[in-house]
Amino acid sequence: MAEFDLVLKGGRVIDPKNDIDGIADVAVADGRIASVAPDIPSSGRTKTVDVSGLLVTPGLLDIHLHAYGGYPGWLFPDQHCLPDGVTTVVDTGGAGWRDFDDFLETIIQPSQTRVLAFINIVGAGMIGAPEQDVEEMDPKPCGEVIARYPDHIVGSKSAHFGGPGWESAGGAIEAARLSDTIAMIDFAPKPTRSYEELLKRMSPGDIHTHLYAAHIPLLDDDKRVNAYVRDARERGVIFDTGHGGGSFWFRIAAPAMAQGFPPDTISTDLHKSSRMIPNATMTATMSKFLALGMPLREVVYRSTQKAAEVIRRPELGNLSDGAEADIAVLDLAEGAFGFVDSGRARMNGSQRLECRLTVRGGKVVWDRDGLSRPGWEELGDYRHAD
Ligand SMILES: [Zn+2]
Repeated sequence: MAEFDLVLKGGRVIDPKNDIDGIADVAVADGRIASVAPDIPSSGRTKTVDVSGLLVTPGLLDIHLHAYGGYPGWLFPDQHCLPDGVTTVVDTGGAGWRDFDDFLETIIQPSQTRVLAFINIVGAGMIGAPEQDVEEMDPKPCGEVIARYPDHIVGSKSAHFGGPGWESAGGAIEAARLSDTIAMIDFAPKPTRSYEELLKRMSPGDIHTHLYAAHIPLLDDDKRVNAYVRDARERGVIFDTGHGGGSFWFRIAAPAMAQGFPPDTISTDLHKSSRMIPNATMTATMSKFLALGMPLREVVYRSTQKAAEVIRRPELGNLSDGAEADIAVLDLAEGAFGFVDSGRARMNGSQRLECRLTVRGGKVVWDRDGLSRPGWEELGDYRHAD
């Protein structure tokens, strides 16, 4: 009989990639998923955790978060991701093509969270005013750095640019083409460069983040999704949530979703201030989509499998046999809840996702209620209960 290190017993497993939605056990051995099946027996060395009544999903992927940079808003990934079920996170442009090595040494390598990166088209990364300096935007070295670190870097990033030209967005798109990767674009339209033209310049797989931001003309004057936006999706352009402090408005999301225009991916744009009043954490953002009427399985899909595919890491975001064992155990609480958007308006909802336990690479790294721990009374004169 196979020996497992960990068995999560009796939860409702939702694994979109394998089309699983039902009560099952999940077994882990040597840091990898060993089996998803009903009634998996445990042997002597197996740690068994009763997760009945809870959801068991692949570890969540947040493809837009700020975990580095020369500006003060970024957050340490482990402390902000693992307690929320997020096992893979993509920093979006904190590091530029000049300072990626420092990001690698100081944040990526020491983190338990899998930290990936979009590299800023601006050499110095996200440090405020230089993000406006077009001299700093250079597709060639940006593309070279991306190509040099394929294990860590998924593409290029353009953001926060207020100038009239295409140096930022166009440069990031070019860097992505040079490195055969993808660009993520945070865009504010100007009279000299429209959203419609941006979408035309993007290739299939490139990501527009902040699709429900107030400054993005997703909807026309009659609140219909613009035809050119639908055309872009049809062509393969990806639309990401990027909640953040200013970019997820219910008054745009609700009509867009009612017209069949959900985000491809659910992501937070988490940083110090979006963590506060709009509460842009991953599980809160997922809960907001539940309140907007997105079915639970789809919410999980857009936070796991789809996000993994979008960043071209299809091996992530699923519970396939042999996959690295990244798992989120979530509580789908029922009750009267309220959710706040970036415009600081409230939407009422009846369900809220909360993370109870997180497994990263086969290890329990977050356990809010001690589900995997023995009771202290059973242990006698214990030192360390592992
Ligand atoms: Zn951001």
